Amino acid sequence: MKMPLNKPKRIIITKSSKGGGTSPGQGIMKQAFMALVIFLLLVSLYSLFSDMSKSIEEVSLSELTQEISTGNISAIVVTGDKLEVTYLDGGERVSKKEAGTALTTTLKNYDVNKEALSKVNIEVKNDQGFLYWFASLAPIFLPIAFIVFFLWFLSRQVKGAGMQAFSFGQSKARLTTPDDKSQQVTFKDVAGCKEAKEELREIVDFLKNPKKFLDIGARIPKGILLMGAPGTGKTLLARAVAGEAGVSFFSISGSEFVEMFVGVGASRVRDLFDLAKKAAPAIIFVDEIDAVGRVRGTGVGGGNDEREQTLNQILVELDGFEPNEKVIVMAATNRPDVLDPALLRPGRFDRRVTLDLPDRKDREDILLIHARKKPFAEDVRIALIAERTPGFSGADLYSLMNEAAILAARESRTKVSQFDLIRSIEKVMLGPERKSHILSKREKELTAFHEAGHAVVASVLAYADPVHKISIISRGRVAGYVLKLPLEDRKLQSKKEFLDDIAVALGGYVVEKTIFEDLTTGPSNDLQVATALARDMVTKYGMSEKMGPMALESASGKPIFGLGVGDKEYSERVGAMIDAEVSKIMNDAMKKVEKIIKDHRKILDTIARRLVEVETIEQKEFEEILVAHGITPKKKKDIEHQV
Ligand code: ADP
Ligand code: ZN
Ligand code: MG
Repeated sequence: MKMPLNKPKRIIITKSSKGGGTSPGQGIMKQAFMALVIFLLLVSLYSLFSDMSKSIEEVSLSELTQEISTGNISAIVVTGDKLEVTYLDGGERVSKKEAGTALTTTLKNYDVNKEALSKVNIEVKNDQGFLYWFASLAPIFLPIAFIVFFLWFLSRQVKGAGMQAFSFGQSKARLTTPDDKSQQVTFKDVAGCKEAKEELREIVDFLKNPKKFLDIGARIPKGILLMGAPGTGKTLLARAVAGEAGVSFFSISGSEFVEMFVGVGASRVRDLFDLAKKAAPAIIFVDEIDAVGRVRGTGVGGGNDEREQTLNQILVELDGFEPNEKVIVMAATNRPDVLDPALLRPGRFDRRVTLDLPDRKDREDILLIHARKKPFAEDVRIALIAERTPGFSGADLYSLMNEAAILAARESRTKVSQFDLIRSIEKVMLGPERKSHILSKREKELTAFHEAGHAVVASVLAYADPVHKISIISRGRVAGYVLKLPLEDRKLQSKKEFLDDIAVALGGYVVEKTIFEDLTTGPSNDLQVATALARDMVTKYGMSEKMGPMALESASGKPIFGLGVGDKEYSERVGAMIDAEVSKIMNDAMKKVEKIIKDHRKILDTIARRLVEVETIEQKEFEEILVAHGITPKKKKDIEHQV
């Protein structure tokens, strides 16, 4: 069985406003090709020019002298050393005189008839014309210009390729300006997160109207830390703050700070803050700040000096802010527990905003936001989908909507129907169906009994979540699954619920062991889940009688006081006690499940046989089977929530 709590993969949507998508290698080839084309164009243009001047016939000086003497020439225009000769009959020729010598001198040297010469209209033109210069300099400068141009292109590409040879410390932040309407996000695009929005509205207010706050001597927080599980909308909310306030938004991810060269991370930070101050009012957003902001000096993660320098620089910049600087730093993380305490002290990221997984109402709102541009059939009930998706993050819901639209389009329908949405829930939760994955007859039977085992235990135990669906169609990596949904969203889990969850997880294992008298690798994931739950009960929640009220591990799974990995705070003796307690919980659960399976063998057989036949049993049919065997299905009011 796959626990429905298991988080599906994150969906990452990147909207980069700058930087191309083509690979660098491809880019260089393209640019070089373009440069070549431009070069060829210039060359042909040049030869065209020179051809044009050549197309007029040339006469030699001696010939010209003779023509003048015979009185055939009407005018000569002198441009530098070039002579444009016009004949009496209107014909035109060109010629060249000796460089540096006046035309008349030259002609005299050729013994021209002076009388005839005086009849020729000689005009001396300034030879500074553009074409003249162009024509005479082009052969020298064009190739040089071409080479420079080519190098420039290459260097630009090289930079793009990440070698940073020419722009060592420039920040790689992506900038979204307030006039960029296509990327604009406002609070309207963020559903739920009421407290977070409330908290952030104050920041928006300050960015819009700083004077009001400064006049009264209020100090506005410089740093705001957004914390929450992946996909809860941290990045989205940060963008929305910038959108609401209409300020520039510099966004950079923590890992982008940390790059190959020592010191570059720190200089990036400096650049970024300088840029933002120039663009003030502005927001700097550091996404996934845990990449740089981990606890320093623990030696964990290789004692990365570079990271420490970067972090120090961020702290320095935060401290160096004048209170009226109108730049606010926002950061996001899903691991607040690993952040360096120095980041969190007052005057730095002292404003902390937590984003929770959305509850039922919020899920409905998020679905509605992402349903905006999609045509829906009449049968769609978004509220029902929201009810069926506890534990889904905003990103999961976004991808659910998207999957539903894809399903509808694939089947060439113009509207998304309720069935598409329901199928997408499972797809997002467990991965796509693998109908081609054929089970042998025995495997199919075993899987059916295994899943039936989970389902029966879940229906009998009071604190387990009711079953919504059982299936032996394999999906993603699981061979079959039982979909359970809590009757309501819950924030806290009780010991009784934990114990029942462990029992349900063991249902498949016990069925294989007792009915088939053999074990397969099938229940391995179930065992992992159950053991982890039992261990958490003992080490985190103080739910073991023997250990008493002691939290031996922090919520993130690391020993609480120890700073490094494997640096246990408790002794070997306590470690052995923990193991004994975990093992006791597991064995008690197994005995309980063995009894349930024995007592409910008939209903188990019924469900398993039905599963082999139809492969999927929905809630309604399942409850009918339960009632037929004298078990009352759980209804909302039946479950008392003890905390
Ligand atoms: P995080 O940064 O917390 O991992 P993102 O902000 O990147 O999550 O969210 C990913 C996507 O999920 C968003 O682009 C948005 O489409 C959707 N989403 C998440 N939370 C919400 C929400 N509260 N309202 C609307 N959409 C949301
Ligand atoms: Zn199982
Ligand atoms: Mg994010």
